Amino acid sequence: MPPSLIYLDNNATTKVDPRVVEKMLPYFTERYGNPSSLSHPAGWSAKNALDNAREQVAALIHASPDDIIFTSGATESNNILLFAAALSTSILSTPVEHSSILNPLRHIAREESNVLLMPVDSLGRVQAGSIASADAFEGALVSVILANNEIGTIQNMRDVAEECEPGEFLLHTDATQAVGKIPINVNDLKVDFLSLSAHKFHGPKGAGALYIRNNRFKLSPLTFGGGQEHGIRPGTENVPAIVGMGEAARLCAEELQTNSGALAGLRDLLQQNIVESLDDVRVNGDILNRLPNTLSITIQGIDAEELLLKVPGVCFSTGSACETGSGKSSHVLAAIGMPQKEARSTIRFAVSRFTTNEEVNRAADLIVQAVRSMRRHQF
Ligand code: PMP
Repeated sequence: MPPSLIYLDNNATTKVDPRVVEKMLPYFTERYGNPSSLSHPAGWSAKNALDNAREQVAALIHASPDDIIFTSGATESNNILLFAAALSTSILSTPVEHSSILNPLRHIAREESNVLLMPVDSLGRVQAGSIASADAFEGALVSVILANNEIGTIQNMRDVAEECEPGEFLLHTDATQAVGKIPINVNDLKVDFLSLSAHKFHGPKGAGALYIRNNRFKLSPLTFGGGQEHGIRPGTENVPAIVGMGEAARLCAEELQTNSGALAGLRDLLQQNIVESLDDVRVNGDILNRLPNTLSITIQGIDAEELLLKVPGVCFSTGSACETGSGKSSHVLAAIGMPQKEARSTIRFAVSRFTTNEEVNRAADLIVQAVRSMRRHQF
C-alpha cells in the first residue's frame, strides 16, 4: 500500500500483522509437512502447528478446540452449515446478513426447504418476538449476523438465544466482523455454530473457521475426500494460513481490551470531525451498540460513488466489498428502511489497529473539503 494512501476499509479486509507474517513464514519454507502425514516428524510438526492454531482460535471465542473446523473463510463456513442444515431443517435468518448467507439461502429456498427472513428494525436489530412467532419454523436453524459489516450494529444474541429456548432451534451466528473487535464467548451467546474469517482480524486471506458446539451435529459435507477436519471440510489444510490465523487470534485475545478502546477513539474522532464540519449528515446503525471500528454515515445530497472518486487518497466504501461494482444499492440499508436516494449517499469507514490519529484527521479533512466542493457545484 503506498504510504500516501489512507486505508479506512478494514471491514473489507485488514493488513496482515507483521507478527503474524513472521509466524507463517517457516511453514512455507522449512516446516512444509502435510499435517495428515503422521508417519514422520515433518508431518508431526505440521500437525502440532494445526493443533496449536486450533487452540488459539478456540480461545478467542471461548470454545473447545475440538469444536473448531478450519475452512477457507467465512463464505465457506456459512455455506457448509446452511446446505447441511437445509437437508433436515428449515432456516430462519435476517435480511441484513452478508451475501454469503443470503445467496445460499436464495438457492436453498428455490430447491427445497423453508427459508424465512425475519424483519429488522431501523438499526438493523432482529425484532423481539420474531422467532417465537414463526410457528411453522420450530426446530429451524436460526442464523443471525453478530455484527453488521455495513452499519456495525451488534445484535443482542442473548435475546435471540432466549427466544430460541426452550424450543429445539439451532442457533448460528456469522461473527466474521465481530471476532477480534469485541469479546466473544460462545457459551454466553448460547450459539451452536459460529463462522469467522482470519483476514478480518489481521490474519491472512483464505483461512477461516466454523465452530460446531460439541461437534455433536453431524454436518453433511459439501466436498468429499480425506477425513480432514472431521470429514466436514476434507482436503489438506492450508497450514501457513491457519498458523497465521492462530497467531492473529492470539494477538486479538491478548490485546482486545486496549485495541477496542483505541478503535472506538479513532472512529469517534473521524465521526466528530465529519459530523461537526458538515450539515445534514446522519450516523447509521445502533450508536449505543456497534462495532468499535465502524462508521456508516449518510451525507444528504451527495452521490457516494462520486465522492469516492473525488477522494482517491482515502480507501473507504459505499457498502460491502462483495457487492461493490454490482451497481446494486445496499440490501442492508434497504432492509433498515433507508430510501434508495439516501442509500446512494451513504459511505462506510472502518479503522484498524494500524490507523493513526493523523490519518483520521487528514481523511476527514479531505472528505469534508470534497463534500463542500460538491455541494457548491450543485447550486
Ligand atoms: N460474513 C461477513 C459479515 C463478512 O463481512 C464477510 C466478508 N466481507 C464474510 C462473511 C465473508 O468472509 P470471507 O471473505 O472470509 O469469505
